[in-house]
Amino acid sequence: MPLKGWIEVNEVYCKGCELCIQECPQDVLALNMDALTPKGYHPAYLKSEGCTGCGVCAIICPEAAITVYRESKEGVAPATT
Ligand code: SF4
Ligand code: SF4
Repeated sequence: MPLKGWIEVNEVYCKGCELCIQECPQDVLALNMDALTPKGYHPAYLKSEGCTGCGVCAIICPEAAITVYRESKEGVAPATT
């Protein structure tokens, strides 16, 4: 059974570059066209279920705007990738 995860995007830092969207192996990221960050960009968000908490998006993000969470036997904790 695949791991279950999810992410949080810090909209203060996200600049809408789409790198995380291009690199997500599960294709569960998109830009939220209904929202704007304080700097005026459309922020990335989790558009659907299926995130495994793999951490690729957090690694690729040039602004370190993504925090990944992953379920584990010990419970839910921020993933350290
Ligand atoms: S943690 Fe992995 S599966 Fe989840 S959104 Fe990021 S790249 Fe996609
Ligand atoms: S890679 Fe980072 S800055 Fe670029 S869209 Fe994704 S969360 Fe925003």
